[in-house]
Amino acid sequence: MSTDNSAPAVSNFIRSIIDEDLASGKHQGIVTRFPPEPNGYLHVGHAKSICLNFGLADDYQGKCNLRMDDTNPEKESDEYVQAIQEGVEWLGFKWDGQVRFASDYFDALFGYAVELIEAGKAFVDDLSAEEMRAYRGGLTEPGRESPYRSRTVEENLDLFMRMRDGEFADGSKTLRLKIDMASPNINLRDPVIYRIRRAHHHRTGDKWCIYPMYDYTHCISDAIEGITHSLCTLEFEDHRPLYDWVLDNISIGCHPRQYEFSRLELMYALTSKRKLNQLVIDGVVSGWDDPRMPTIAGMRRRGMSPAGIRLFAQRIGVSRSENVVDMSVLEGAVRDALEGEAPRVMAVVNPLKVTLSNYDDALTASRSAPFHPQHPEFGERDVPLSREIWIERDDFAEVPPPKWQRLTAGGEVRLRYSYVIRCDEVVKDEAGEVVELKCSIDHDTLGKNPEGRKVKGVIHWVGAAHAVEAEVRWYDRLFTEARPDAVRGEDGEYVDFRTFLSDHSLKTITAFVEPVVRDAAPETRYQFERVGYFVTDRHEHVAGGRPVFNRTVGLKDSWAK
Ligand code: ATP
Ligand code: MG
Repeated sequence: MSTDNSAPAVSNFIRSIIDEDLASGKHQGIVTRFPPEPNGYLHVGHAKSICLNFGLADDYQGKCNLRMDDTNPEKESDEYVQAIQEGVEWLGFKWDGQVRFASDYFDALFGYAVELIEAGKAFVDDLSAEEMRAYRGGLTEPGRESPYRSRTVEENLDLFMRMRDGEFADGSKTLRLKIDMASPNINLRDPVIYRIRRAHHHRTGDKWCIYPMYDYTHCISDAIEGITHSLCTLEFEDHRPLYDWVLDNISIGCHPRQYEFSRLELMYALTSKRKLNQLVIDGVVSGWDDPRMPTIAGMRRRGMSPAGIRLFAQRIGVSRSENVVDMSVLEGAVRDALEGEAPRVMAVVNPLKVTLSNYDDALTASRSAPFHPQHPEFGERDVPLSREIWIERDDFAEVPPPKWQRLTAGGEVRLRYSYVIRCDEVVKDEAGEVVELKCSIDHDTLGKNPEGRKVKGVIHWVGAAHAVEAEVRWYDRLFTEARPDAVRGEDGEYVDFRTFLSDHSLKTITAFVEPVVRDAAPETRYQFERVGYFVTDRHEHVAGGRPVFNRTVGLKDSWAK
């Protein structure tokens, strides 16, 4: 069960189905599952599916299994299995019992295949992959039956055992269901359910040289686990008749129902493990957990919180209509969650030096400031002033635009949690660039308004004597194109999504931050007041050393039109 999933449930068509099934007594409780293939790291689309499956189990006091769909040994690995478990846990969910694996069911799957052969419902085929394609027919044209389809049960049993025992070369034989080569649904045209593949499996090693196919494995795994509602994405809708056919034709005694919902596509991101893996292989990103990756590991390293991602999943909802979502929806949910979660400190990311000419150690006491205006329990820290301070270059304008409330020559502004200062002199270098401001403190303004005038502007700052230099990785969108994998060229073919990689997705800068952050543990999230949300890097930030921050998201949606 999730630990702190406080988001209220929003109804959707799947909930309506569950409500009916419980009301009619069809089910006493629900069992869902999340069935990733461990061939890559989970991405934001999987996060949607996790929140749906585990969220339903939580809300209905049911169970949700985590099952690795590991039937493609060449592409799967333990590294991915670990990352998947970590991702689900980090999002705040717990699976029922042990992690399950489709490979746990290899013996059972083999047994059901024998049963199907014995019932005359499966046969060993010698057609090559190419021949099989030619026999399959097309959307408007029926397929043709394989010449091997009429083999006897005895012959099929003998050949299938010998397939298992390694007598035949990879790809030379398959086991196929005998359904209907004329079916308008191509999935029902005698689908292959076993293939010969001499590949080392991450769990079963070299025990098997035949592996079951996804469609055959998935429905039986669901039934073995007593899944009540098997939720998957819409591209499996046409596979549902096969899902049902298999369960109707074996002696398993449990028939989960499959329901489809639309897959999430996130603009300015990719939601395909294969394409994300390409970015890793190309070295365009530092790894699957690069903070620019829309993977769970990447979003985590970026500083997004589990609550933020769950809020996002709740906001996008679940339906059968197209689910292309703007990145600003994810960023908005993350921001809304961090608003109440992250302590606030001051940091200057584009510094301009200010010298306080009448600074006096004796008079200029440091002040204590709360970490969060609405959360006194977050505590307070000192924000010490010094003769020299850093302010944001943008907070000074020599020629101020109309309604300017920040600092200008001769003008006044309040330093957050501190005094009102006046800019007395602007110092420039030979090129005319402003390099320093000389300002004076109004000592009678600590915690109160100045006498006889209004100072509206408040800016953030960091005392230079105490400031800590931090490395800040300023992340931005990875792509310049909203749908990088959906752009077609003049020839009508898809343009390689890598064409649209942005040159500005990472900029490393040095910022001045309050000293209190130096001791922060890795993965501590902060709001830098007026700047945005930042997190100490999970891997490269060391408490007590030079801080390393990743920029999570700005305070406002800077992409809004
Ligand atoms: P990919 O194409 O990235 O490899 P996949 O669908 O092959 O994705 P699986 O590991 O098979 O990945 O998916 C596990 C579960 O997550 C499935 O139930 C699948 O439907 C769901 N899922 C995958 N991608 C999305 C998505 N973009 N939106 C919602 N659910 C998704
Ligand atoms: Mg898949």
